[in-house]
Amino acid sequence: MNHDFDPFTATVQESAPAPTTADYRALDAAHHLHPFSDMGALNRAGSRVIVKADGVYLWDSDGNRIIDGMAGLWCVNVGYGRQELAQAAYRQLRELPYYNTFFKTTHPPVIALSARLAALTPAPFKHFFYCNSGSEGNDTALRIVYRYWAAQGKASKKYVIARKNGYHGSTIAGATLGGMDSMHEQMPSKVEHIVHIDQPYFFGEAPAQLSPEAFGLERARQLEAKILELGPDNVAAFVAEPFQGAGGVIFPPSTYWPEIERICRRYDVLLVADEVIGGFGRTGKWFSHQHFGFEPDLLTLAKGLTSGYVPMGAVAVHERVAAPIVENGEFNHGHTYSGHPVAAAVAVANLTLLRDEGIVERVEHDTGPYFQSSLREAFGHHPRIGEVAGAGLVAGIQLAQSPRERTRFANGSDIALACRDRAFNGNLIMRASGDRLILSPPLVVSHAEIDEIVDKAKHAIDATLRQFGLL
Ligand SMILES: *Cc1c(COP(=O)(O)O)cnc(C)c1O
Repeated sequence: MNHDFDPFTATVQESAPAPTTADYRALDAAHHLHPFSDMGALNRAGSRVIVKADGVYLWDSDGNRIIDGMAGLWCVNVGYGRQELAQAAYRQLRELPYYNTFFKTTHPPVIALSARLAALTPAPFKHFFYCNSGSEGNDTALRIVYRYWAAQGKASKKYVIARKNGYHGSTIAGATLGGMDSMHEQMPSKVEHIVHIDQPYFFGEAPAQLSPEAFGLERARQLEAKILELGPDNVAAFVAEPFQGAGGVIFPPSTYWPEIERICRRYDVLLVADEVIGGFGRTGKWFSHQHFGFEPDLLTLAKGLTSGYVPMGAVAVHERVAAPIVENGEFNHGHTYSGHPVAAAVAVANLTLLRDEGIVERVEHDTGPYFQSSLREAFGHHPRIGEVAGAGLVAGIQLAQSPRERTRFANGSDIALACRDRAFNGNLIMRASGDRLILSPPLVVSHAEIDEIVDKAKHAIDATLRQFGLL
């Protein structure tokens, strides 16, 4: 420990002695509770201190350069170090750092952002409500759904159906909507009227004789069965990620979404697409529901909206839902920072980069196909990899005891965590979810950087499988 180090002056005075990695770790362990972490274990091992970033690379406090195969947490779509975003924030901080939009006021950044989002989302989405995160976005989506049904005179429509192993954030409503048992276990009570159906996870859950297409239909029809069980007059909405992100980058069979859409329309159930990961180019389309070809009623947005430079979330509302809400009196919902001017200015700058630099088109036609084919070349015939799922710049790599029989390892999540840790030690950020490894790099990644990610991922996975005696 550097005893001259004063944690307060070190952050405000350039002349103060630079903190060492040990200084940082000691203070972090003493005072900082990390999200989704076992703090005892983390404090004993010590956190890695990330001090700067540029493009697709991060640097730690020991000077190691790390390639970010996850775009932070699926959010840094335009990559790190974009001056345009920094300048937009700085200009807005000087001009109008904050004002609210509750009481008959508005401001230029939130107006510009709303108009920009109306132009970028599919035509029926013309209204946007702002919040600070994906979790709040899903809370907001529920509030809008209930408001809509009340305006229709159908207040009995209260139930919301979501999916096991879905992820919708970590507020109480977000965590209830999510189908993560580990989160539910730590909540003594959940939001009422939220129920779950099974996920369309073909590799992990389909019976041996079923085709992906038949399985996709079967899983979609669980929605119909659940609606009929609850009574269509009691069901307000179905909430799902177009592809599951945190659940393992699970892409549903092609039959799934058309059938879900048919069922929602038939029983007059609103369809909420949680686009927090899929939005803003991840799959090579602006929004991932466009990749699957269906039309939701609400979109939850966050992450790529600002490329993570500042926090912001939003809900896009289809005109058929927005119109009755606009004409139905006060909507009693909002956040102090709804439409925050600095966040809105950064979002506008971010969307401008995504559009003007053709970043989304490049994901669709160039880097996305290159990333997918590189991963399939590396893992497509691998004796312990069951599938590579994904599109554009997002992928899930399934560990398997036997790829052909689709049998999984009993300790698959331990193996995946060991793969992740080995990749991290080799300066690649790759995530593990159950027995799948996940990649989701910044959308500005180059071919050479994709090569580096795939090489490092393959090396980490193979070395780990050898360590477990499986290769
Ligand atoms: C990350 C995520 C959320 C939650 O967003 P936060 O900003 O962490 O609250 C919600 N839905 C999906 C699909 C996500 O990936």
